[in-house]
Amino acid sequence: MVGHAAILTGKAALVTGGNGGIGLGMAQGLARAGASVAIAGRDERKNQAALRELGEGAIALRADLGDERACRGMVDEAARRLARLDILVNNAGINIRKQPQEYTLEEWQRVLASNLTSAFVASQAAYAHFVRAQGGKIVNIGSMMSLFGASFAAPYGASKGGMVQLTRSLACAWAKDNIQVNAVLPGWIDTALTRRAREEVAGLYERVLARTPAGRWGEPADLAGIAVFLASSASDFITGAAIPVDGGYSIQG
Ligand code: NDP
Repeated sequence: MVGHAAILTGKAALVTGGNGGIGLGMAQGLARAGASVAIAGRDERKNQAALRELGEGAIALRADLGDERACRGMVDEAARRLARLDILVNNAGINIRKQPQEYTLEEWQRVLASNLTSAFVASQAAYAHFVRAQGGKIVNIGSMMSLFGASFAAPYGASKGGMVQLTRSLACAWAKDNIQVNAVLPGWIDTALTRRAREEVAGLYERVLARTPAGRWGEPADLAGIAVFLASSASDFITGAAIPVDGGYSIQG
């Protein structure tokens, strides 16, 4: 976008888990739309590889979002290094696939901490920066498991259902501050996370293909457009929504 302002020019965005998969797909969309972008993840090697893809101006923060202090510190550091913060994408997430009776409490808590509590803490930390900027955008990443059950994903499904309700509460509370909070529910997207799922759940690849009207699995780049839309003023009257980006998976009977 050389020569004229893009839709997110002058805005600063933090994408948790932006060093790969869906998070990187969204970070690339935000960067192309003119935002300055910070990504955060635990793995420094993945952070550096993602920075090479994002190009000049992007920054990477190393943080384990399961840790409250690290999570708050990540938000404040992103705002400090980008000189402002307008957009927070709560995308970091993990899954542990087992039957419900097989989880330890530590595994349950690890999934909830990584996927849901981190989003709450990062949003709390971002609030002060958004108030200073006189507005802000939060994009929470849910899942088809925000809508449907899966025998092998009790804590993950609980975290992703919780993400939608967290979205609605934050949207109600912070509308007065000109902060819009929405959720994106990706369908089945080809990433490191789902490559493991395919290894662990027999027949998953074919079942998803058969149920998806678009006739394919999604790519991380398929999430770039919704990220830009929900991060921009084009969506200023949309708040508390949960929008599937799934090639029609969730409307197929
Ligand atoms: P990936 O495994 O490719 O990406 C997960 C990202 O989260 C990585 O960048 C990882 O970075 C980061 N992350 C995980 N735990 C932590 C943590 N404790 N602290 C900091 N960063 C963390 O998976 P996807 O891209 O597929 O998943 C991204 C999001 O999309 C997740 O919330 C997932 O639940 C959701 N989703 C994915 C779908 C899919 O089909 N792929 C469908 C629906 C939802 P690092 O390893 O460096 O910490």
